[in-house]
Amino acid sequence: MTGSHAAHLGVLSQGRAAVYEEPSGPTGVRVREWPRSEPAAGKVAVAIRAASINHLDLWMAHGAQRVTPPQVIAADGAGVVEASTVDTWSPGDEVVIYPVVCDWECDSCRAGQNVMCPHFGVIGEHSDGTACELFHIDARNIFRKPKGLSWAEAAAFPLTFLTAWRMLTTRARVQPGQKVLVVGAGAGVAVAAIRIAKHLGARVFATSRTEAKRERAIEIGAEAAFDSANFSKAVREATGGGVDVVFEHVGPATIGESMRSVVPGGRIVLCGSTSGPKAEIAMARLFWGQLDLLGSTMGNAGEFEAVLDAMDAGLKPVVDSTYPLSEVQAALERLDAAEQFGKVVLSIS
Ligand SMILES: [Zn+2]
Repeated sequence: MTGSHAAHLGVLSQGRAAVYEEPSGPTGVRVREWPRSEPAAGKVAVAIRAASINHLDLWMAHGAQRVTPPQVIAADGAGVVEASTVDTWSPGDEVVIYPVVCDWECDSCRAGQNVMCPHFGVIGEHSDGTACELFHIDARNIFRKPKGLSWAEAAAFPLTFLTAWRMLTTRARVQPGQKVLVVGAGAGVAVAAIRIAKHLGARVFATSRTEAKRERAIEIGAEAAFDSANFSKAVREATGGGVDVVFEHVGPATIGESMRSVVPGGRIVLCGSTSGPKAEIAMARLFWGQLDLLGSTMGNAGEFEAVLDAMDAGLKPVVDSTYPLSEVQAALERLDAAEQFGKVVLSIS
């Protein structure tokens, strides 16, 4: 458990669990048996059916996140309530976990702005994670599982769809008929963005370095997909002058091209910077183009509920592959090789 976050959330990962033990990459995450207990007041014990991993888990395994081991990995989980201390949940209820660490009590949380909470964090990074058999979590962090989803799908969507939903709706204000470009189309959050933008009635375009991922992007809703090298020219040609919104998570390697891909008044919304921590920005393009550069991370509980409603209305995550918990290292290796399209899921029970 790390810092003040854990004290607020009190998350406890129990039973067989994928534990980050040393910063050696995927081999540093091992399956261990952690003790079990009854949930404390206000908590619910969820028997996890499936969890999914994110790049965050990989960075943590490589020692890049300043997390002190041992810590159970993964932000995303879905399962069945095993024991509850609150009236709102009963044993047998099928649930998904809102992957945010927050105190639920500050002015921001009370105003529905969990993302502004001073104790804001990510499950699996700022607390123990969901890659375990039994997860004790604040009752306010669990929500009904969308009925149309398999367990793997239910575990696949929370972090990426929450993040992409806030970026495209609250932050970039995408309207039906607008054009959205999603860069780096293989990543989980980008796949979520393609699906969500399509669901919102936008025209969707994508970029990827690999032909196979460009084809997959088109299969799931993009009308065209471009090679990552110097993509702005192709985007402007295909869209008659540029897109309204660029969905960014790559950072320095693509931000220049992203800013050249939007129409005047366009928005570039970012949730990550996987190609490096600092980027050079063409300032004149920013102000002369009336552009908005929008940062965003994860999302509020209300936005998570909006994602659940959208799932009921037909929005679907994309599962790349499913590994048993015992093969968590192979699952992390798949992310490390950047071969995935969509989410890598751990089947737990
Ligand atoms: Zn708060």
